[in-house]
Amino acid sequence: MNKSQYAIIGAGLAGTELALILDRYGIRATVFEQKPGSRSAAHSIDSYAELVCSNSFRSDSPESGPGLLKREMRLLGSPLMDAAVKNRVPAGKALATDRRAFAEDLTRRLSRAENIAIINRKIESLDDEELKAAGEKGIIVACGPMGDESLINSLAEATGRQNCYFYDAIAPIVWSQSLDSGKIFRASRYEEGEGDYLNAPMNKEEYERFVTELRDGKTFAPREFETEKHFEGCMPIEALAKRGMETLAHGPLKPVGLTDPATGRKPWAVLQLRPETNNFSACNLVGCQTKLLQPEQERIFKLIPGMENAEFVRFGSMHRNAYVNAPEALDGNLGLRGRPGVYLIGQITGVEGYIESAATGLWLGHRLAALETGNDLPPLPETSALGALLGHLKRPAKKFQPSNITFGLMPDVEKGIRKRDRKKACSERAVAAFDEWLAETARSGVRIRT
Ligand SMILES: Cc1cc2nc3c(=O)[nH]c(=O)nc-3n(C[C@H](O)[C@H](O)[C@H](O)COP(=O)(O)OP(=O)(O)OC[C@H]3O[C@@H](n4cnc5c(N)ncnc54)[C@H](O)[C@@H]3O)c2cc1C
Repeated sequence: MNKSQYAIIGAGLAGTELALILDRYGIRATVFEQKPGSRSAAHSIDSYAELVCSNSFRSDSPESGPGLLKREMRLLGSPLMDAAVKNRVPAGKALATDRRAFAEDLTRRLSRAENIAIINRKIESLDDEELKAAGEKGIIVACGPMGDESLINSLAEATGRQNCYFYDAIAPIVWSQSLDSGKIFRASRYEEGEGDYLNAPMNKEEYERFVTELRDGKTFAPREFETEKHFEGCMPIEALAKRGMETLAHGPLKPVGLTDPATGRKPWAVLQLRPETNNFSACNLVGCQTKLLQPEQERIFKLIPGMENAEFVRFGSMHRNAYVNAPEALDGNLGLRGRPGVYLIGQITGVEGYIESAATGLWLGHRLAALETGNDLPPLPETSALGALLGHLKRPAKKFQPSNITFGLMPDVEKGIRKRDRKKACSERAVAAFDEWLAETARSGVRIRT
């Protein structure tokens, strides 16, 4: 085999997807995979492309973010989508797969790929000599959210420690239109006029009922590798509630600097909601990272006045998850700022989920192939699912958090479209935008191999 041009760390979902795409273009690559000699606590089989938890790739409906992303991945010839469908198991409207058959299928494809070499060893540093020799044109880190600690430390040195996170604390996100604007008001603490937050005020009785239910709420049982201590600034809200009835009213639900326009007084406590998008279409519940089970989140947060009919875009969660502060650490094309020739794909970039992780490998594979021919891919529209996902990694954020693909990452649809038609409109717009992007790619002289 000729000399390897790209070195990939990790034969998980993203690494396998990228390697198979490069192979399709005849580009030589070496995959360094730590299995079977070492493995993270979440991985349990020797095959590559292991699904560590659920065997579902979520909804296949074109009126959902995951459905749209899968459509775009199929149009880009995703090996992962192909293997998922070939090994499909019945799961209603979701695409689910036989996890063992799926991993074995992709392992076979990778092992037989003409242009791919696999070296089974753990990489502990981006400066590893064998890695650098195999990746003269580029090193791609695809080590996943449970990547080996020494490698993550080496990455943290390259990104700056402040841009590398080890733990994921996700607050729930709700659609703003599902909130009761008669009870929730817009304001920033201590500021006059229209503020940057939505605020859900509570009186003493409402607050105490909420705290009592939070304390008794059912939570996910931690798994062996998820038992590390939380940072003080990042405690689950139910754990804070258990410290004392007043803890939240002096912490994330403090009412200082806010006046409820309905009463003209400072409320007893306030839940603040921070916009996720410029147009306020979706908001996250500030300070509400939680380990509550999803039905419990829905039941308990709906006790807050104004949230009675809240529709959740995403539920909160907390788990070990290494990822970078993508808007700061990456250059917009998955390249590491300050370290040319090193790319990141998969969950380490700040996307969340199987398909999202694989999609970044798929896109980078096609882009590296386009660059080989002196071309480049045109920018993806943010109205498409893949464009929205990559857009999330570029958008500056006060506290960047990983995200699945949801409609909340896309620009809002025009005003005046009825609530029940919004998803359909978003989805039709995404289909048209992605198809036009494919046509534009062809016009620009790039031939995408599927
Ligand atoms: C416990 C857990 C459960 C999850 N459940 C789901 C779920 O149900 N549904 C969902 O959509 N998403 C889930 N995710 C999120 C995410 O989609 C998966 O983690 C996904 O596998 C990420 O893909 P990846 O390619 O980035 O990493 P991975 O698929 O984890 O692949 C990383 C690969 O790199 C290898 N590796 C790591 N470090 C090194 C090193 N230093 N040298 C060499 N090789 C190395 C690993 O052995 C592994 O094969 C879960 C995540 C976790 C942690």
